[in-house]
Amino acid sequence: MAETRTTCPYCGVGCGIVARQEADGSVAVAGDPDHPANRGRLCSKGSALAETLALDDRLLHPLVNGRRVAWDTALDLVADRFRETVRRHGPDAVAFYVSGQLLTEDYYVANKLMKGFIGAANIDTNSRLCMASSVAGHRRAFGSDTVPGLYEDLELADLVVLTGSNLAWCHPVLFQRLMAAREARPEMKLVVIDPRRTMTARAADLHLALKPGSDVALFNGLLAYLAAAGAGDTAFIQHHTTGIQEAVVAAGADDTEATSIATGLPVVQLRRFYDLFCRTGKTVTVYSQGVNQSSAGTDKVNSIINCHLFTGRIGRPGMGPFSVTGQPNAMGGREVGGLANQLACHMEIENPEHRRIVQDFWQSPVMAQRPGLKAVDLFAAVRAGRIKALWIAGTNPVDSLPDADGVRAALSACPFVVVSDVARHTDTTACAHVLLPAAAWGEKDGTVTNSERRISRQRAFLPRPGDARPDWWIFAEVGRRMGWAQAFAYDGPAAIFAEYAALSGISNDGRRDFDISRHAGMDAAAYDGLAPFQWPSPAGAASGGETRFFADGGFFTADRRARFVPTAYRPPAEAVTAEDYPLVLNTGRVRDQWHTMTRTAKTPRLMSHIGEPFIELHPDDAVACGIGPAGLAIVESRYGRAIVRALVTDAQRPGCVFVPMHWTDRYAARARIDAVVNPHADPVSGQPELKHTPVRVRPFGAAWYGFAVLTARPAEIGAGYWAIAPVAGGWRLELADTETPASWEAFIGELCGLPAESGHEVLAYHDAAASRHRFAVFRDGRLVAALFVSPDPVEAARGWLSEQIGQAFADPQERLRLLAGRAGAGRADRGAIICSCFSVGLNQIVAAVTQGGCLTVDEVGGLLQAGTNCGSCRSEIGKVIDGVRVQNAS
Ligand code: SF4
Repeated sequence: MAETRTTCPYCGVGCGIVARQEADGSVAVAGDPDHPANRGRLCSKGSALAETLALDDRLLHPLVNGRRVAWDTALDLVADRFRETVRRHGPDAVAFYVSGQLLTEDYYVANKLMKGFIGAANIDTNSRLCMASSVAGHRRAFGSDTVPGLYEDLELADLVVLTGSNLAWCHPVLFQRLMAAREARPEMKLVVIDPRRTMTARAADLHLALKPGSDVALFNGLLAYLAAAGAGDTAFIQHHTTGIQEAVVAAGADDTEATSIATGLPVVQLRRFYDLFCRTGKTVTVYSQGVNQSSAGTDKVNSIINCHLFTGRIGRPGMGPFSVTGQPNAMGGREVGGLANQLACHMEIENPEHRRIVQDFWQSPVMAQRPGLKAVDLFAAVRAGRIKALWIAGTNPVDSLPDADGVRAALSACPFVVVSDVARHTDTTACAHVLLPAAAWGEKDGTVTNSERRISRQRAFLPRPGDARPDWWIFAEVGRRMGWAQAFAYDGPAAIFAEYAALSGISNDGRRDFDISRHAGMDAAAYDGLAPFQWPSPAGAASGGETRFFADGGFFTADRRARFVPTAYRPPAEAVTAEDYPLVLNTGRVRDQWHTMTRTAKTPRLMSHIGEPFIELHPDDAVACGIGPAGLAIVESRYGRAIVRALVTDAQRPGCVFVPMHWTDRYAARARIDAVVNPHADPVSGQPELKHTPVRVRPFGAAWYGFAVLTARPAEIGAGYWAIAPVAGGWRLELADTETPASWEAFIGELCGLPAESGHEVLAYHDAAASRHRFAVFRDGRLVAALFVSPDPVEAARGWLSEQIGQAFADPQERLRLLAGRAGAGRADRGAIICSCFSVGLNQIVAAVTQGGCLTVDEVGGLLQAGTNCGSCRSEIGKVIDGVRVQNAS
């Protein structure tokens, strides 16, 4: 058994992992008890990492126009086309679009190639979608992209404000740390600001379900309240800041009634929040995508920071504004200059001295002189024909960028598209001329930086399959072939990291925040043993020193003072219109999926939590739209449309709907929600407004609904709506269409790929009058398929049926029971899975409450183990308990 210490490749918490490889080649993962970010904890996604390592659908060889080629052929082609495009059209005619999933060393080489050798800054990253507004807000206020605090501050605070952050689902281990601290100190208060009553909001002492996009009005109101209350830290403001007057004027008068109108929040709630913030010194405000993904995202960030600067609550234990990143290495990307408007090591592309430092260090022939195109503008330039060669690395913009159908059209029109990825089939790889196989998690070495500036190693513990290579190697090989052999002559990631660390210390006399020069010149052995550390880590510094920023000022502006930024409130870019688009679409994540599902959808365990794309809408809106519970809804905007399952819930504000960002054409017929999302972006950060698109919702108009389980994934699915998910022995499939097939027998035959003479036994039940049809298909006595058709959303024990696929059914009575669609007496149907770690379903938790007498989450855990491992599901268990108790009381 071999053990490797590495880091989780999903969210920005950056949990340490111990990967154990057994003699038989199998892998088990566990939380690293010694990693400071997670202290042994992992969430459901991290715990299931070993189940995502199978090589099915891996891109294993370079492909040119779908044909396998040698690496030399593919690399020469990419280098030739990029070089020729630059020669004919100039450096701004090429672009890289990279990813917060890249390791820092990958990012560093890609950025060096584009900015220092090709000579343009058209390299942007999917981190633009994640936290660009935080970067811009930090730079405006602090003069640098600095996260002042540490995770520990969430535990030390007396008040934690979570705004635009569903921490329970999106950063579960950090949320569990917060919950543990709160349990130890019940006096700690939690305020959650979110239009939705999320699982995070359920844990709050105060939930402010504000009007979408009104955050600036809320925090301006707070600043005005603090000013009126005389709650400012006069000494801090006087010695360490500028611009207070302008910010207070822009915030407006202390008028809670007016703020109530702007935010839609009751005055009493506003006063409670403002008073709590005003009198609680140890306050941390955590913000994430709900703040960043907005056409006013940068102002939102600055309106939050203004309140912390005003009270001097920054950089001290238990105090500060705290941006939490969505991606595993969004921070590393920021540090190496992976965004189109940055240089490496937090140097600024607009600063001639910074350009000189970097160019001298790289000994590069050219240097980008101005910021490049940010993500949304970059793809608009591709569509307009201005960018003629594009390299996409480790990301899936055909699904994740707004106006995603426009992105697909842009790629179709682009003369040369290269995609390097680990997955063979994505909606983006389908648009590529050249596919380059990248090494995946577990196969590559490098570093990542988490949301508290902690740099950790990702270490390889698996052999690289096929021709897969690390991303840094692919970029370096293209750089060499474009004529810069010396500059890209790296023999491994240690050499890249050593160079990067050295650059961070060049001419840095303490006027730049990012400095890891203590690690300059590090050799491969030291790199291999590198323990997690936080920056700053300058040359000569002792390890273990204070790593918070700004408690005593020392901001990275010219005068070392922070800037209050006036933030007048402005509404989202597009307003709802009562006639055409009356609802606000919000998009985001679900607990057990990651981005566009290329890894998390490989594991049935994670797909058993939520296996189908959905729209959450308030009961009043559901009635107005003519949508019934579990019906299918078409959600459409000026930009596109999607078809998703309706989840009617009062957790939504009336007038607002939510659809998850994850589903792609691989897993559903038409659920790419970013095709519906508007492409407006923040004017400062360029981050798109993924949380606010006016839409309308109408019924799909299904003539029939179906549910099927199958041993094999169908090559084609002949229905206007479908959503597919893997289960232990095959697949489960939701179906619907507006037209009824001429023959159900033929339909299920096509679904199963059954030739007429196949020897399958088909058991059927028809109630023609009620338009209900059921089929079970057996081969050699084992269930290979079942299909349930109904004019209404199908009622069937989906979890139980999914477990029957591939099982032997010798008893005719058992076969008939199968057609009933539910577990018979004495057979357990767990229901929808709530606890992924122990596969505990809704029905089991309900029974634990109603029959087992459990009254608390811990009691349910004691009986069923649910919620006792990663803890990601504890809020949902609490919700189930509350629901049962309310039902019993009524
Ligand atoms: S919280 Fe979960 S997804 Fe995020 S780094 Fe930790 S284990 Fe990975």
